[in-house]
Amino acid sequence: MKTAEIMANLEAKHPGEKEYLQAVQEVLESIEEVYNQHPEFEKAKIVERMVEPDRIFTFRVTWVDDKGEVQTNLGYRIQFNSAIGPYKGGLRFHKAVVPSMLKFLGFEQTFKNALTTLPMGGAKGGSDFDPVGKSNDEIMRFCQAFMTELWNCIGPDQDIPAGDVGVGGREIGFLYGMYKKLAREYNTGVLTGKGATWGGSILRPEATGFGALYFTQHLLEKAGKDLVGKKVALSGFGNVAWGAATKAKELGAKVVAISGPDGVCEIPDGITDEMINYMLDMRASNRNKVEDMATKFPGKALFTAGKKAWSVKCDIALPCAFQNELSEDDAKELKANGCWCCCEVSNMGCQPGAIHFFQNNGVLFAPGKAVNAGGVATSGLEMTQNAEHISWDAKEVDDKLHFIMKSIHEQCVKYGTQADGHVDYVKGANIAGFMKVATAMLEQGII
Ligand code: GLU
Repeated sequence: MKTAEIMANLEAKHPGEKEYLQAVQEVLESIEEVYNQHPEFEKAKIVERMVEPDRIFTFRVTWVDDKGEVQTNLGYRIQFNSAIGPYKGGLRFHKAVVPSMLKFLGFEQTFKNALTTLPMGGAKGGSDFDPVGKSNDEIMRFCQAFMTELWNCIGPDQDIPAGDVGVGGREIGFLYGMYKKLAREYNTGVLTGKGATWGGSILRPEATGFGALYFTQHLLEKAGKDLVGKKVALSGFGNVAWGAATKAKELGAKVVAISGPDGVCEIPDGITDEMINYMLDMRASNRNKVEDMATKFPGKALFTAGKKAWSVKCDIALPCAFQNELSEDDAKELKANGCWCCCEVSNMGCQPGAIHFFQNNGVLFAPGKAVNAGGVATSGLEMTQNAEHISWDAKEVDDKLHFIMKSIHEQCVKYGTQADGHVDYVKGANIAGFMKVATAMLEQGII
């Protein structure tokens, strides 16, 4: 495989799209060896085709704020790859959203979805709309305006969006309300992450965090360790961090830090159920401040402005917020403070320098596309329930999620075990996802 040539071509076509190029580079580095053993892949130009999205929709979203002023944002849906099923992936509402971010997320999603064992292709979408400080009515008006453009690009068997940063159950509700009005289609399976009374799967809100902790358990077990009594530092306080904190506590770990864009809250005695519940209020308030936790629980949650969760002494680091949130310097600080494991829960949460530092310094590391796949996997389970017009109970969903995370771990071990016996989870996840998508593309001909 001519990695340098492929990267140069991609850069020429998508100049300056840093996150996108970073994500592709990481995957190509990992799969090169396996790819070269399959001349049929090379002949069909599988990689050259796989790194480009199938299509991109870009649209203007105009809405009116509470002051009566007209606001304009950009909206996108990137349908990346449909080799193994309909397009599937979340919508991100964040002020920093640009095509590069969504292309990287759509690319990653393709491999992640392949790992889940379920038939889902990869997609991503979103807007540069900034939910911070917006009222409920403003969120609703924006979601409705966004859907007036998106509705005819999606469908329960074509493309099924869900939540991501800035998009949770409330937003999915507003989006679906407008979808059914425009499409006159009443199949709730067009979106996942819905409310539990109208087709949403039980445990979908918890699934990304729960799945991440199940994966972490398997990784630790393989390394002869466990979670009980271990100190966990996690970043963020949104839906993913909330699910991760809930399951980490339930499995006997002690969550000693959560963080936000404003700083970190250290929780020396470990997070309590009350604090975990309060994370939901913090997310719903749209204030985007972790300091609120310290104000609510004085003396128990200690806020430091401008610091990251990675400055707090821990055994296990769980980035749960945003891409590139953990730098090489953060990785060094974590290691110096005794951290020996990092499971990336956010998509591409660790910078390449951080990953290399972890891997070269004996810190167990697993990438987001394996660790966080429980979220989209449970979306897949929601689609199945919708298609069958039934809903499963919590135990059924949890058992299936557990099975999927175990299977993802096994795929990583199968493809990532190195000559000396240690598991390279980055390679394992990338190769396992790639082999599935590449085989499907090959079998479907040159399209
Ligand atoms: N946004 C989530 C992810 O990054 C979930 C996507 C989905 O459920 O479709 O995987």
